[in-house]
Amino acid sequence: MENSISLNWEKELLPLLNTDFVGRNIHHHQQLDSTNLQAKRLANSNAPEGCVVFAEQQILGRGRLGRKWESPANDGIWMSILLYPNLSPDKISCITLVAGYSVCRAISQLGLEAKIKWPNDIVIGSRKVCGILTEMVAQGQSNISVVVGIGINVNNDSFDGELSDKACSLYMESGKKFQRIDIAAAILNCFEQDYNNFCQNGFEAICEDYNKHCCNVGRQVVISGTNGSFTGKAINVTEKGALLVQTEQGETEVSSGEVSVRGMLGYV
Ligand code: ADP
Repeated sequence: MENSISLNWEKELLPLLNTDFVGRNIHHHQQLDSTNLQAKRLANSNAPEGCVVFAEQQILGRGRLGRKWESPANDGIWMSILLYPNLSPDKISCITLVAGYSVCRAISQLGLEAKIKWPNDIVIGSRKVCGILTEMVAQGQSNISVVVGIGINVNNDSFDGELSDKACSLYMESGKKFQRIDIAAAILNCFEQDYNNFCQNGFEAICEDYNKHCCNVGRQVVISGTNGSFTGKAINVTEKGALLVQTEQGETEVSSGEVSVRGMLGYV
């Protein structure tokens, strides 16, 4: 079992990476307000692309729409990757999907059956093991920084309250405790590959495989957004990263902005 106090993230993580730029610059903190906030501060001081912020504990961990992200000390990986993409704004929203795909691939390498819950969660069975929050920081007209926050429950042995039937950890699903550094390295290695592929060839390059790993495809879903909610059957995720839904009124494409997707009977 890892001893988090003795972990030297930079020294131990770097030899596990096969990346050119992702994770080549590491900032590790015992406690932060949030790794995304810290990565945004680094963006403002022109930190290098691909630098990664880790915190053992986040006090203000957030999901989308300001929802709280529980980030207890030492059990999970709470990290943010800083990017300076040269992409149009509509493509930037696909970075969340790319990161979800990479996390799913990395967890699958552990022999666990992870699925992507479009647009920003990874689930095992019907419970969430990872959430992703991508945020954009505009500096002037042309300089755009993107911060990809990834929270993954690794060695947690239980969750309380509203999370008790909604959240899981890699340990709860496998009965094994993991070295968080190994998981972080696997995610960063997968992410650089997928992100480079996406930047060069578009989301179409991973779309087919993404759909194979997406738990919503073929299921009845409830889509909730700021203008209310509707139900339908998820057909697939399109080459632009939208969720194509069959409703009684016909097919409609839902973009990954600020919508939440639920199953008809529960979280998935
Ligand atoms: P949604 O799951 O509705 O898309 P978000 O992606 O914004 O929502 O994630 C925030 C939600 O995730 C919280 O409202 C809470 O239900 C759930 N959550 C918070 N912390 C954790 C955690 N450590 N593991 C799994 N789920 C969590």
